[in-house]
Amino acid sequence: MKHLLFLVFCLTFLGCSQNQGFHPVDSWKIHFLDVGQGLSVLLESDGKFALYDTGPDSANFENLLKTLHVDTLEWIVISHFHRDHAGGFLEIAKKDSPFFIKQIYFGKDSTKSWIADSCISLVQEKDVPLKYLQKGDSIIFNEYPLHILWPESERNYGDNNASLVLSSRKGNESLLLTGDIEAETEKKILDYYPSLRGALFQVPHHGSRNSSTLKFLETLQIQYAVISNAKENTYEHPHSETLKKLEAATGNSEKIFRTDSLGTVCFHWEFGTGIWPCSKNH
Ligand SMILES: [Zn+2]
Repeated sequence: MKHLLFLVFCLTFLGCSQNQGFHPVDSWKIHFLDVGQGLSVLLESDGKFALYDTGPDSANFENLLKTLHVDTLEWIVISHFHRDHAGGFLEIAKKDSPFFIKQIYFGKDSTKSWIADSCISLVQEKDVPLKYLQKGDSIIFNEYPLHILWPESERNYGDNNASLVLSSRKGNESLLLTGDIEAETEKKILDYYPSLRGALFQVPHHGSRNSSTLKFLETLQIQYAVISNAKENTYEHPHSETLKKLEAATGNSEKIFRTDSLGTVCFHWEFGTGIWPCSKNH
């Protein structure tokens, strides 16, 4: 009898687990944070968070993350060691930071600068696992992979063209994070990946004139383009020519989202269903 009861209990329990739970998470929220002139993209899924870049050191980044209820970061990727991408890292990775960081990824940016030195010494002080990424690597966020498309391993790149480029794709749905790459790198990436997609596309280098070649934009089949920049910035980002090309590539200026006019913008990606701006979905 005892054995029979045990069998009934097991079957009931297994039935519940198969029908109701323990299936993998199947959506991401992607926040393009309003960090002024800079870039930071926060991935969120099932209460977990990860960061691609951290904005400048002037954006009060710690508070920005707290307002989004972030306390643990699965990983942080720093695309390259420019202040507008890595500055916030100095704030959230410092010794008494309230954030628990599980893993840090840097690229092979050969730029020599105080910010590069500061980032590396902070990681050493904190004793957080650090890995240097390059083309061909992959990282995981809550069970789904992001592939590293750039930089290639054979040679060193510095400054904007050293940016780590990350791609995640499921069928026609895709996310493409480009840091500050410029035209020459866009061409090289297309040589490697001629059918690259960027349904949700972070416009490179804040909409600079030196990036976003028409061929690159047309290849990506962009559904939504996001430009991260500050109002009235001294670089005059985004450039009017880039905006025209984006309009041509997307066919609709309403597909272009700018943090200088909208603040933080957020998208919901439901795998296998689609990608939508959060405001229209929630
Ligand atoms: Zn930048």
